[in-house]
Amino acid sequence: MSANDSGPAAVVVIDDDPFALKVLSVQLQGARPEGCDCPQLISFDRAQAAIALLEKGQRRVGLIVCDLQMPGMDGVEFVRNLARLEYRGGILLVSGEDSRILRAAERMAKAHKLRVLGALRKPVMQAHLRRALQRTLPEAEGEPEEPGPEVAPEDLRRAIREHELVTHYQPKVRMATGEVVGVEVLVRWQHREFGLVMPEWFIPVAEEFGLMDELADCVIRNALRQSRCWMDLGRQLDVAVNISMSNLGSLDFPDRLARLAGDIGLPLSSLILEVTEAQIMTDPRSQLDILARLKLKGVRLSIDDFGIGYSNLAQLRDLPFDELKIDRGFVHSAGADPSRHAILKASIGLARKFGMKTVGEGVENRVDWHVLRQAGCDLAQGYYIAKPMPGDEFASWLEHWAGHRQDLAAEAGKLHRRPH
Ligand code: C2E
Ligand code: MG
Ligand code: MG
Repeated sequence: MSANDSGPAAVVVIDDDPFALKVLSVQLQGARPEGCDCPQLISFDRAQAAIALLEKGQRRVGLIVCDLQMPGMDGVEFVRNLARLEYRGGILLVSGEDSRILRAAERMAKAHKLRVLGALRKPVMQAHLRRALQRTLPEAEGEPEEPGPEVAPEDLRRAIREHELVTHYQPKVRMATGEVVGVEVLVRWQHREFGLVMPEWFIPVAEEFGLMDELADCVIRNALRQSRCWMDLGRQLDVAVNISMSNLGSLDFPDRLARLAGDIGLPLSSLILEVTEAQIMTDPRSQLDILARLKLKGVRLSIDDFGIGYSNLAQLRDLPFDELKIDRGFVHSAGADPSRHAILKASIGLARKFGMKTVGEGVENRVDWHVLRQAGCDLAQGYYIAKPMPGDEFASWLEHWAGHRQDLAAEAGKLHRRPH
């Protein structure tokens, strides 16, 4: 590896498992601040190599993401070495199984006054990586060093009760025809002081302080009301709501859902619930019965952010999912990266085998769209189609999309006819 200290601070990723290393790298690329090509990622399969890089002192490192169970130098020893070298960047400690070594390494790092940004079980959620990048790479274009507010749980509780949470909607489009088939519902907090606050800043707080049920009820109620408005205007759209595993932990969740839909006069068949792959795989067995009851009530289920959660074939076969959403790390720029493209194609093939529909997330440009379409994906979602928007902007966006859709269909026809 060539050393060069003139550019922005690098991010170092260390994991002895080559697959985990690839996944973390793809996630970090996807988590980079918008409009910014940094960070430069340097990956190692051994902690000693990272220590050697720091010892040379030729490359500024802003963030180290490090697996703790590695042959050779373990995480605790690694942390001790970072302290010896007076490393001043951020550290994100991750571990596949053993939370004790994770806690021990974290305690020790803090005792050495190192800047620990988190000690996380694998698979790591994208939101944690994004936050770590924002906090450690101040040179990221347009991003202040500490963007976003610190959220106090009592403020969030009040905000939920006083209806400060609003829902935005991002279209999902059928790739073969360009038809808009549904929307994903994304929550934001219309904050009195900070303006529109994105979910990555308050969902973790809601998780930690037991507010996820209240939050989900509020989002689902908003979404179903919006869906009802669209239906009354003659437009049938599926609404996909993100839920957390902690929502599935409440045994009365299916009944609450049925009540909410009944109050608004909508069938539960227009609702899709998205659960991230990473969360399902933490405890797939115990959630099966609640997922099965939701399905019996007519709700459809979707696996979100697929590709980074380490599920295996048997788990996928056994879980009653209707849709698989491929993580944007394997969609955006897949055309320029053979290994991303291979994961994209394999995921689509797998979903088809198990009778699931596929959605590609993070379609950011025309190339992403055509690559995804040629890979055989059913639906697309991403900034290229539309950014999430308030419900009352949807009608005018649909008019705009009608024109764009025809251009895309014409282009796809030309590509199809082009000799190989
Ligand atoms: P997600 O469910 O995977 O949602 C997609 C995220 O990707 C959204 O971010 C969306 O704005 C963003 N996105 C969509 N298209 C593109 C694109 O082309 N490029 C890029 N770079 N990003 C794109 P958002 O709204 O910040 O939400 C982040 C995550 O927060 C969601 O990821 C979801 O896991 C969680 N979340 C959002 N709303 C809720 C909610 O109501 N309940 C729960 N439990 N989680 C939620
Ligand atoms: Mg989602
Ligand atoms: Mg997703």
